[in-house]
Amino acid sequence: MTWESRFINDDALAAYAAQPITDFPTRVAALINQQLATWPQLGKATEALSQVQYKELTVKGSRMLAQFNPARIVSTAAKVDTASIQARPCFLCAENFPTEEKSVPFGDHYVVLCNPFPVLKDHLVISEREHTPQAIAPRFEDLLDLTAALGSQYFTLYNGPSCGASAPDHHHFQACNRAGIPLFDEVSHWPRTPLSSPTELDAYSLDGYGLKILVASSAKKDTITAWFHETVFDIAKATAATAEPLLNLIVTHDPHCWTVYLFPRKQHRPSCYYAQGDNKLTVSPAGIDLTGILVVPDLNHFARLTATDVERIYAEITLDLK
Ligand SMILES: [Zn+2]
Repeated sequence: MTWESRFINDDALAAYAAQPITDFPTRVAALINQQLATWPQLGKATEALSQVQYKELTVKGSRMLAQFNPARIVSTAAKVDTASIQARPCFLCAENFPTEEKSVPFGDHYVVLCNPFPVLKDHLVISEREHTPQAIAPRFEDLLDLTAALGSQYFTLYNGPSCGASAPDHHHFQACNRAGIPLFDEVSHWPRTPLSSPTELDAYSLDGYGLKILVASSAKKDTITAWFHETVFDIAKATAATAEPLLNLIVTHDPHCWTVYLFPRKQHRPSCYYAQGDNKLTVSPAGIDLTGILVVPDLNHFARLTATDVERIYAEITLDLK
């Protein structure tokens, strides 16, 4: 099956658009409406998301929300070892899609899809057309372009192949609506330690925040890209990584300026994921969880989860580069 048979053009989307489709964000909004109207699985999942339970916790002085989302068990508990991945049909290859699943292109080699297991509003998957491994180094500028194209109501994210991506064999980004995400408020509150950087780049770490994070803002694509590659090199060196070091990325774009939120990771899953009995908490943090929306697919674990648990989870999985 070719991607062309999965594309839905602007004429077909017009009935689902709030205004004439003259730009990418309007086209994507129309795709979401079209898919909600015609793909029952997505409609049900989106309805379930609107009624999902949240629990607000204060973790080391930061606000975060635990989200009880039973549908996410497929991702949280996904087996991402090589044998398991090779044994399953790839859910990002068009030939394995349900009939109703449609897309719009982004550039020459990406497609925009609706995530059938949403965690946040307007949850998109932006997938390579080719079945090719998850890797950020050759595609970081694509992520910047995508973020700019989607506009300021979205954030984009990247999960490393050993760090939260449930399809490490098929490269993809995600994007979600930015509204109500704790991270963006938290970053404006905490004291900053500037990182050495050229004048056209504002780079810093946060002091006291429960998650170890590096943030960089710039209007210049080349400058922020150079910073990213240097930082990844440093993380690889610090962790003796032989492949892409463990990391998650969140990216936003406001008029003429990107901000990259980089989470260097010590490990993918916290020790409580592997624990038994009352110590077990099925959480498997990836990019969205690091924005302060921690997905918990088990009701009992959701009820038990405390701020102390989250503080320990965050400390176990994120890496202090200092
Ligand atoms: Zn694939």
